[in-house]
Amino acid sequence: MKVSVLGCGGSSGVPALGGPDGHGQWGACDPAEPRNRRSRASIFLRMEDGCGVLVDTGPDLRAQLLAHGISAFENVIYTHTHADHVSGLDELRGINRQIGKAITAYGTAEVLGELQERFAYVFKPHTTPYFFRAVLDAQPILWGEQVNIGGYAFTLFEQNHGYVTSTGLRCGAFAYSTDVVELPEPSVACLRGVHTWMVDCFQKTPHGAHAWLDRVLEWKALIQPQRVILTHMGAEMDWGWMREHLPPGVEAAWDGMSFELPDPPRAG
Ligand SMILES: [Zn+2]
Ligand SMILES: [Zn+2]
Repeated sequence: MKVSVLGCGGSSGVPALGGPDGHGQWGACDPAEPRNRRSRASIFLRMEDGCGVLVDTGPDLRAQLLAHGISAFENVIYTHTHADHVSGLDELRGINRQIGKAITAYGTAEVLGELQERFAYVFKPHTTPYFFRAVLDAQPILWGEQVNIGGYAFTLFEQNHGYVTSTGLRCGAFAYSTDVVELPEPSVACLRGVHTWMVDCFQKTPHGAHAWLDRVLEWKALIQPQRVILTHMGAEMDWGWMREHLPPGVEAAWDGMSFELPDPPRAG
């Protein structure tokens, strides 16, 4: 399985719009370091047999798919419905055209229900062979239960994201936890034994909806993954600073990063 980091930025991206000359607010991030330029958080999984799974469809989706050479996949998992994770949904039309059918959208009933309100048209049956809009099939999941996605066993689990919940995912040696500030005990149990864990780390100081560096380090001590990769990073998180100061086994993601892991187990 190849994991591609399409984007690892917070909800505004880095840089955020604005700044003294209108070319962006970089905060503590060095604008000269290309790894500080972060689009909105999303990953893509490609299994050995070609099965593809996208996680979230943020506003930067089109550029992200083009940059990674991703033009076909049949599955998308939605972690939650904040705009930085859903508002590029219409770009899936281009993928529908490539694969010639609907894309299956996995999420909790609550998340899919909200998507059906906000993007009602993409869930309507399509009757022509030409995709004049994105077409999704909603596939509700339950936290903690094994889900068959493209023939592979995923477990999706509950995360506390401040005022809302979000969904984390575990597939074999890999897990992804964006937009999380607290992990319920069953979700910690779901993460045990994971090799590589990508996790929200928005900033260095405490935040009401996102994990911060010390919280991630507490989770690392509890869960003991071999490799922790920080994502959903805001403008406080300078790449050069992190390279110097993060402890062994913890590293910062960057847009364009990819890594290989064994395929998850086949769904039983
Ligand atoms: Zn987010
Ligand atoms: Zn969010």
